[in-house]
Amino acid sequence: MISRIDLRGSTSDPRDLLPRAEFDVEAALETVRPLCDDVRHRGTAALIEITERFDGVRLERVRVPQSAIDQALAGLDPKVRAALEESIRRARLVHREQRRTDHTTQVVPGGTVTERWVPVQRVGLYVPGGLAVYPSSVVMNVVPAQEAGVEGIAVSSPPQRDFGGLPHPTILAACALLGVGEVYAAGGAQAIAMFAYGTDECRPVNLVTGPGNIYVAAAKRLLKGRIGIDAEAGPTEIAILADDSADPRHVAADLISQAEHDPMAAAVLVTDSVELADRVERELEPQVAATKHRERITEALSGRQSGIVLVDDLDQGLEVVDAYAAEHLEIQTRDARAVAARVRNAGAVFIGPYAPVSLGDYAAGSNHVLPTGGCACHSSGLSVQSFLRGIHVVDYSRDALADVAAHVVTLADAEDLPGHGDAVRARFDWETPGL
Ligand code: NAD
Repeated sequence: MISRIDLRGSTSDPRDLLPRAEFDVEAALETVRPLCDDVRHRGTAALIEITERFDGVRLERVRVPQSAIDQALAGLDPKVRAALEESIRRARLVHREQRRTDHTTQVVPGGTVTERWVPVQRVGLYVPGGLAVYPSSVVMNVVPAQEAGVEGIAVSSPPQRDFGGLPHPTILAACALLGVGEVYAAGGAQAIAMFAYGTDECRPVNLVTGPGNIYVAAAKRLLKGRIGIDAEAGPTEIAILADDSADPRHVAADLISQAEHDPMAAAVLVTDSVELADRVERELEPQVAATKHRERITEALSGRQSGIVLVDDLDQGLEVVDAYAAEHLEIQTRDARAVAARVRNAGAVFIGPYAPVSLGDYAAGSNHVLPTGGCACHSSGLSVQSFLRGIHVVDYSRDALADVAAHVVTLADAEDLPGHGDAVRARFDWETPGL
């Protein structure tokens, strides 16, 4: 069901040998470009037609009425409501403490630079709803935006045929619990285009965040610049670094839990124990057979993006997981905390036997919108920071400028930009020696 890659004794760059999903965003650009152009030029009419084509639903309007959001909350299973409320409470605890405070540096007497952190004014949060629906993604997008102080928050999620063309009721209920009333029934590239260009129903936004399928990623790439984006999330991934102390039942269950998202999801075990590898493989079969989405899971686990990677020892294991830069990385080894402290590349790290990725998906307090496809070597997951911009505020007195004026003029001359130097000279006596 799952392939093996033996890197024991290998001196090659592990990046060339590790499994990874094919996620050709470039190819999907051709599909999404006409969709985005159509939304740009024809707005809501285009959204309605594209939605009918891809979601099989004929909408009358794309904006979800407040009454539908209220109804969804009223009809929410009390157990789901309690779980969502706890997820929101924990996410708030963590994200509230991420807010950076403004900082002023006195460079010279009378000369300061302040870094002011200012929230983006209006954001569009995409919540996927194709293969599965993700009310948890509402929480993971909305909470950091709110904690950053964003004033305008709009959510979009695909309309569901079974629910009268509205986004899934649990998604609407999650919006209600978070106090978000601006919700749209649009999915895929067309939702991103609606956010970027605006329509008669939806004002354009400055930033779009949230995971989605390849069409969502392609539209984000296409429209980046007009809007800011968090990342082009690809199919979800788990890597588990484990030694012979790991419980094979836990390891198998965690690989399966990630494979459940998507047939393209990646599940990778890196271990120095052949015995653990064998036992995990034996565990996978009955666990997969017993679970609901076995077809999707089997496809994900047997796909070229998943595998069990054998290494000589944990040092090589760490090199491999750093090279892979997984979205989610579990450390199931002896002294897992110390091993985790050595990890350099991962979207999020889960330590020891009692921190499965599912905890992080829903209720650890951490964010589950994380970099995929190896992007964790240069990018972070969603956080309050994603919704803030740092603005440098420069405040210099006459004396403070005079103190450095000659250096500014010298550097302006060195760059052959005399106008720059003159802008300083104009503030002083043009004949000042050295200026
Ligand atoms: P989605 O909401 O991203 O996409 C569904 C939309 O795609 C539909 O509304 C439809 O309009 C559009 N679409 C479908 N077929 C199309 C086609 N042929 N051409 C153009 N548009 C088309 O939902 P999904 O497909 O289930 O994908 C969700 C993805 O998000 C999964 O890969 C999942 O793993 C990922 N995810 C990631 C995280 C994370 O935090 N990284 C969290 C949740 C989900």
